[in-house]
Amino acid sequence: MTPEAAPQNFIQKMIADDLTSGRFDGRVVTRFPPEPNGYLHIGHAKSICLNFGLAAQYGGTCHLRFDDTNPTKEEVEYVESIMADIRWLGFDWAPHLHYASDYFEQLYQWAVQLIKAGKAYVDDLSADEIRAYRGTLTEPGRESPYRNRSVEENLDLFERMRKGEFPDGSRVLRAKIDMASPNLNLRDPTMYRIRRTPHHRTGDRWCIYPMYDYAHGESDSIERITHSICTMEYEDHRPLYDWFLDQLGIYRLQQIEFARLNVSHTVLSKRKLLELVESGHVSGWDDPRMPTIAGLRRRGYTPEAIRDFCERIGVAKKDALVDVALLEHCLREDLNKRAPRAMAVLRPLRLVIENYPEGQVEWLPAVNNPEDESQGTREVPFSRVLYIEQDDFRENPPKKYFRLFPGNEVRLRYAYIVRCVGEVKDPKTGEVVEVRCLYDPATRGGDAPGGRKVKGTIHWVSASHAVPAEVRLYDHLFKVPNPGGDSEDGDWKTDLNPRSLERLTGCQLEPSLASAQPGAAHQFERNGYFCADLRDSSPGHLVWNRAVALRDTWAKLDKE
Ligand code: ATP
Ligand code: MG
Repeated sequence: MTPEAAPQNFIQKMIADDLTSGRFDGRVVTRFPPEPNGYLHIGHAKSICLNFGLAAQYGGTCHLRFDDTNPTKEEVEYVESIMADIRWLGFDWAPHLHYASDYFEQLYQWAVQLIKAGKAYVDDLSADEIRAYRGTLTEPGRESPYRNRSVEENLDLFERMRKGEFPDGSRVLRAKIDMASPNLNLRDPTMYRIRRTPHHRTGDRWCIYPMYDYAHGESDSIERITHSICTMEYEDHRPLYDWFLDQLGIYRLQQIEFARLNVSHTVLSKRKLLELVESGHVSGWDDPRMPTIAGLRRRGYTPEAIRDFCERIGVAKKDALVDVALLEHCLREDLNKRAPRAMAVLRPLRLVIENYPEGQVEWLPAVNNPEDESQGTREVPFSRVLYIEQDDFRENPPKKYFRLFPGNEVRLRYAYIVRCVGEVKDPKTGEVVEVRCLYDPATRGGDAPGGRKVKGTIHWVSASHAVPAEVRLYDHLFKVPNPGGDSEDGDWKTDLNPRSLERLTGCQLEPSLASAQPGAAHQFERNGYFCADLRDSSPGHLVWNRAVALRDTWAKLDKE
């Protein structure tokens, strides 16, 4: 897009203005800066779509930078999963893969420069003391007794911090700004701390590590980013971000804040997600109930659906809770166009057609996708003994029940009209174990000759051809829209939904699904969209996840 084209949101407007004024020589360079301390989630997807999307829109580039400044919580596993997830979402940073840890030496040299300029000092106060000295929103802070050390002493101490002469936590390097500033971030923020933890990239080369606020802006500057887009909580950090760049006299860029994404019925804090994983409430970061990219992928979400969702929610300055029904709606829309249909019976009940010849099999044509003719048709086997859903038969039907009950007719999808002539019960439990029917050979394909009224159409599979499968049905991970938001103590885990996973075994699928590869998505007619599980499914042992049910709660909400 050229700068003249109409900007749509406030970030696009800022970028367009900068292009017009030539502020960054016509460059647009954004970055996505994850800390490798967890898996990416749908909130990160919003930031990824935004940063990579803007770069693409304005012919710029987007860097991937690992913000790996805190070795205690970071792992290589996370680095790898983050790269895989971004690629899967459809974005590419090549060749701009960076690590904040690559800048440790430069950051150190800049810290020395600030010390020399009298803008940073080594403080011996403990973490608790620093907190106590910091003051509050209504009270100014107090200056540390170590604040006015000489430049020489500071240089010496800082060098010895680096050399490992002092124990962890005994000293920090702080910026010397203003302990009375109304902005707490400017009350001599910590720049470096001592921490003897091996780093996944620098090993034990360093025992001092830079703080986020110091490392982040300087990394942006080194990479000559033009627009550093972050979430609203960094708005109050912007003066500090700019202060460091100004004091160092290095390349300056624009930080822009937007509201983070919150999605209903889930949590999007890495700390909370990690807790769910570690406490065993979910099976892992990629549990299909998790809002992580890995979880969504395993559940059956497509990159297209996630990108569409991120596009629709837009960017704003004000926090909002987006209904998870919108995310589900985006998936449904995408899969409706693309996922081939199939018949699968989740809770099987035998149906015997008394007048259908034993041993006879007819292969009947079925449409693969009514939304996409190019997907063609397939043939499904029909025979004397079928499975139907337990739900599709009632001995005593309620009003407006149009499916099978004694004396009633239904259409078997793609096959024949059948009339129920009775049922067989387990003599011990009284449970219906078989439905008996007669079929009308004149109704092949489901036609109802002579204006016959048949209201119900149900799906089925041929018992002798069916392939067994396990199917996992999911509900929201949390019972309430805003977990922890309604309880006094904010204990979000009490809001976990105890019925978020239901496993069905002995489901019966049409034979065309026998060779389904992990990750394959289908619409099981009348049951929803399902995806063969990436971890547990194989052609010999099928396991399916329900990605999303057919009923569209978003469309309903939208109408209201
Ligand atoms: P933490 O809670 O551990 O600080 P984080 O969720 O901020 O983690 P980062 O790895 O720092 O995770 O995030 C990388 C980028 O993703 C940041 O630029 C951050 O602003 C953005 N981001 C994180 N969560 C959201 C969210 N819910 N909505 C939009 N952007 C987000
Ligand atoms: Mg963060």
